[in-house]
Amino acid sequence: MKLDYGVSVTIDISEPTLKAISEAYFRLSALLLSDFFKTVLRIFAERYMGRKYKPFGCERCGNRGQLIWKNREGRARTKILTIFGLLRLPQLQVQCKRCGHKMYLTRRLLGVEPRAKVPEQTVRKLGLMGALASFRVAQKIVGMFGWVLDRMTIWRSVQRVGRQIRFDLDANQLPLGQADGTGIPIRGIRKRGKEMKVFVQLKRGGGCRVAGLAIGNYEGQWEKLFAPVLESLKKFRQFLLVTDGDTNILKGLGDRVKVIVQRCLWHIPYQFRWYLWKDRVKYQSKAWVDALAQLLEICAIRPLVKDQKLIQRMVDLKRQRLEQLIEQCRQQGWSHCATYLENAAADMFTAVLRRLEGRTISLVERVMRTINLRINVGKWSLAGALNVTKVRLAYYYNGFDA
Ligand SMILES: [Zn+2]
Repeated sequence: MKLDYGVSVTIDISEPTLKAISEAYFRLSALLLSDFFKTVLRIFAERYMGRKYKPFGCERCGNRGQLIWKNREGRARTKILTIFGLLRLPQLQVQCKRCGHKMYLTRRLLGVEPRAKVPEQTVRKLGLMGALASFRVAQKIVGMFGWVLDRMTIWRSVQRVGRQIRFDLDANQLPLGQADGTGIPIRGIRKRGKEMKVFVQLKRGGGCRVAGLAIGNYEGQWEKLFAPVLESLKKFRQFLLVTDGDTNILKGLGDRVKVIVQRCLWHIPYQFRWYLWKDRVKYQSKAWVDALAQLLEICAIRPLVKDQKLIQRMVDLKRQRLEQLIEQCRQQGWSHCATYLENAAADMFTAVLRRLEGRTISLVERVMRTINLRINVGKWSLAGALNVTKVRLAYYYNGFDA
């Protein structure tokens, strides 16, 4: 429908500068916002009420024919937050002549939920904004467009959108995945206490999508990440998972799904540093440098070697050196380091022996950077951290938009 919209306003502008006119424009758009919505709504409402059968029926008896205006002016009682600011609209009341029921048209015509001040459409936009930038930045940017938005509204929107997002494996994408964790700042817990765990699935056209997200203890509770995708994993005949997490929960899948687990070689030296710290080995002391250098050597794989015999011999040598390193840790009383390496040893060279590209872990690394850029701004509650990350990752990797 084409409609004419005319308006005449008196506005105060002191000088013809870009600054002064821009400021006046903000004031003008604030004045126009509710008026424009109100005018369009009223024109449509009049048009619909003029029809023999209305496009909406009585809420109580369903009658679409005999509806009459009860109040088409009225005070602006309906408040709805849009990304342009707060709308104040009259409720546009009609009455059913058959049963006497009175009802309001405004929200019905707008297609927004009853009562909610912030409708779903706005929640999605504010939620995405708050997941892409810090609340302070989101507030500042919105402020530049002329209206004041409180950070609590942005925060609540992020939480609402986050709660609605579910991740899962896509049976049409590749049977290849990577899982990894990164420490996150949670209120009242030191950095190493909790970690965000991510499960990414590789896509046919390159890149990856997010198939799972969970928060658990550092280096523990990996079942929280894998349990939600167990059913979906059964759809794959074979699935290769690169991870340094605990995959015990996947053993229950039996023969139906073959899960190949491999320690991420890229990660092992990083985690080893953490165990060195736990064993109270002085940072950058001679013993610390020596142990870490040995492990880096063991974990370095030349990607271009394709000959099976050469690979086998290289892995044998690496295993011998790993044994020596574990023995060395034991002798020095570094029990955490020794146990960590012993547990890692079994799965460390699986992918290399299968001549699989071990470096693909870089995909999940990029996802981790995407998480860290947002999560390291501020301190979070567990649910807050999970929800903001869900929205962020859904946008960057799974096609979510607002
Ligand atoms: Zn009725």
